[in-house]
Amino acid sequence: MLPRYHVIYGFIFTAIIWFFAPSTKLIYLILIFLSSILMDFDHYINSLFKTGKASLKNSFEYHKKLEKEIQKKHLTGIRKKTDFHFLHTLEFHALIGLLSFFWFPLFYVLIGMFLHSILDIIDMVKKDRLYLREFFFFNWIRKILKRN
Ligand SMILES: [Zn+2]
Repeated sequence: MLPRYHVIYGFIFTAIIWFFAPSTKLIYLILIFLSSILMDFDHYINSLFKTGKASLKNSFEYHKKLEKEIQKKHLTGIRKKTDFHFLHTLEFHALIGLLSFFWFPLFYVLIGMFLHSILDIIDMVKKDRLYLREFFFFNWIRKILKRN
């Protein structure tokens, strides 16, 4: 899903939480909102590694090109996974969930991450592209070890 939609839905979702739980501290609401957007930071890391360029503009260009390739392959029936997004894995969610027992604000980060992931999954299902993502960190590691 495009970052701009994560901003819009993240804002709406945070406003809903604030409406139903008005005593929630502003800093926690900000954490939910920001984590629902910044989870796509791994996309930036990917473009940085693949192109060697640090600019955000370059990252958007990289993903625009990748999107065109994905569309082309999708139309010809090729269904392969694309870039690995480590922040989007189940294991990373579990790690943040575990760490939130030791540092409570991470619980709000986890809420934002869940929102982000649910939106991504809905978007992928709608576009029939669920196959693109590796959801498990250990699956990714296993495949890399098999390759070598
Ligand atoms: Zn995402």
